[in-house]
Amino acid sequence: MAPLKFRKIAVLGYRSVGKSSLTIQFVEGQFIECYDPTIENTFNKTINFDGQDFYLQLVDTAGQDEYSMFSRSHTVDVHGYVLVYSVTSMKSFEVIKVIHSKLLDMVGKIHRPSSPHYAPPLEPPCFCQMCRIPTVLVANKRDLSKQRVVQTEEGKKLADSWGAAFLESSAKQNDTTVQIFKMIIQEIEKADGCTRDR
Ligand code: GDP
Ligand code: MG
Repeated sequence: MAPLKFRKIAVLGYRSVGKSSLTIQFVEGQFIECYDPTIENTFNKTINFDGQDFYLQLVDTAGQDEYSMFSRSHTVDVHGYVLVYSVTSMKSFEVIKVIHSKLLDMVGKIHRPSSPHYAPPLEPPCFCQMCRIPTVLVANKRDLSKQRVVQTEEGKKLADSWGAAFLESSAKQNDTTVQIFKMIIQEIEKADGCTRDR
């Protein structure tokens, strides 16, 4: 049998969008109505995807806003990112754009000249499929249809512009939480194959 693969995943997004609810629903199979929003926690779970076992370490962050500085613990050794906003909050949709752009600045493998990853200055940037930051954009709280202010198409369009995967979810109904984490594994696996030196 193939050895277990370790993958660290950070869950980012504005406060109250459901980062903890999605993570706990996935790991423990229960919906928490009230969870301390200031807590940052790490959860572990083993999951099989495509015949391969993955040992996932999930960093459920305390949340960011447009002014937050990224903690290095949110990027060091992280293989992939689950970026969450709530379909009931336009603010959370705006904030997720800022978070993504900060992420690009920090870990951008789209070898931009300003990026520390852009090692040989004269080498043309690598735009291969695999050099994207593995990301899944999640539009949560889709069960609250009456309170929806961000339409599916807007989320999809944003994810496409990043080259990221996109999914609408409900931590409450638990219909897609496993799918979210399988999707991020898939994105990480895709990114694993760039043969160019980094
Ligand atoms: P976080 O700050 O992003 O970690 O958000 P939480 O997971 O703590 O969720 C914030 C609030 O939204 C809590 O009261 C949750 O019960 C609620 N919540 C989270 N996800 C959903 C969802 O998919 N549907 C509904 N109706 N409520 C949700
Ligand atoms: Mg939380």
